[in-house]
Amino acid sequence: KVVCVTGGAGYIASWLVKLLLERGYTVKATVRDPDNPKKTLHLRALEGALERLHLVKADLLHEGAFDAVVDGCEGVFHTASPFYHAVSDPQTELIEPAVKGTLNVLGSCAKTASVKRVIVTSSIAAVVYSGRPRTPDVVVDETWFSDPDVCRSMKAWYPLSKTLAEEAAWKFAKEKGLDMVTVNPGMVIGPLLQPTLNTSAEAIMNLINGATTFPNASFTWVHVRDVALAHILAYEVSSASGRYCLTERVAHFSEIVAILQQLYPNLPLPEKCVDDNPYVPTYQISKERAKSLGIEFIPLEVGLKDTVESLKEKNFVS
Ligand code: NDP
Repeated sequence: KVVCVTGGAGYIASWLVKLLLERGYTVKATVRDPDNPKKTLHLRALEGALERLHLVKADLLHEGAFDAVVDGCEGVFHTASPFYHAVSDPQTELIEPAVKGTLNVLGSCAKTASVKRVIVTSSIAAVVYSGRPRTPDVVVDETWFSDPDVCRSMKAWYPLSKTLAEEAAWKFAKEKGLDMVTVNPGMVIGPLLQPTLNTSAEAIMNLINGATTFPNASFTWVHVRDVALAHILAYEVSSASGRYCLTERVAHFSEIVAILQQLYPNLPLPEKCVDDNPYVPTYQISKERAKSLGIEFIPLEVGLKDTVESLKEKNFVS
């Protein structure tokens, strides 16, 4: 069976390509620059890549760039979307590639009869910023949608890009009758396959690379293997539909530091919070739908250890 992965060289997508090849799929992975070895060597080295991986050049902002790639594919995994926090122009750097890019890919899928289902990598960022309070007793589930105005008022540009992209995707899928499923992961951790540093792994690297303070924030954490597998199950399980939140645990950075301290007593970890405010509370994310797909969730502790080991191995830790 032939499937397409957009943004195939990214952190999550590389794991997705790896697991798809292991399951016997033929994979067409899109990258913006197939001639850049940093984007392709790690993919070409995957088991099965020589026989069943095809790298194809495509940019989200080039209208129709995905037409030829998705034609002939039964499944399309749309993961490509910029994930950065330091942006100078959110509209052009984040929002346009996220929204126009998603509509571009879905548009190509709607043009061919070969595509049976599209899996879109959305985010928990498109779920939690609804304006409703989040406290330890609150269970956030797939019925929650982030409110673009709430994102704008917080200047949360990346969450805004993911919220607008998911909204546009559902509207388009309904209009065109596309079978679409979204996965909505929390902050993804675990080993890096690609040689470059991605934003979510950087959050852990910042803690172990000499920082004196940790952020006053509670994040939702999930292992990259679970995220990649959930994409595949959302495609393979015929009854899968709608959205799937993916979070093993919601934890404040103080808890992340405490776990790292236990795992690595000799690491120089930050001892105090960046401010004196009360800790931003944690909350819960429902696991029910993810479990119904077959996801069992690798514990946060394992994800943190895997991340640190990988960062060390790749010489990101000084
Ligand atoms: P990476 O930064 O590793 O990957 C981002 C990918 O997006 C890259 O492959 C990049 O392509 C591609 N991309 C960005 N802009 C464009 C563009 N204009 N045209 C074509 N491709 C583009 O990030 P992640 O693996 O972390 O993120 C992958 C997806 O998962 C994104 O949709 C992100 O929003 C989502 N996500 C990530 C989470 C996380 O914690 N990591 C959590 C929740 C959701 P190229 O290789 O060519 O540069």
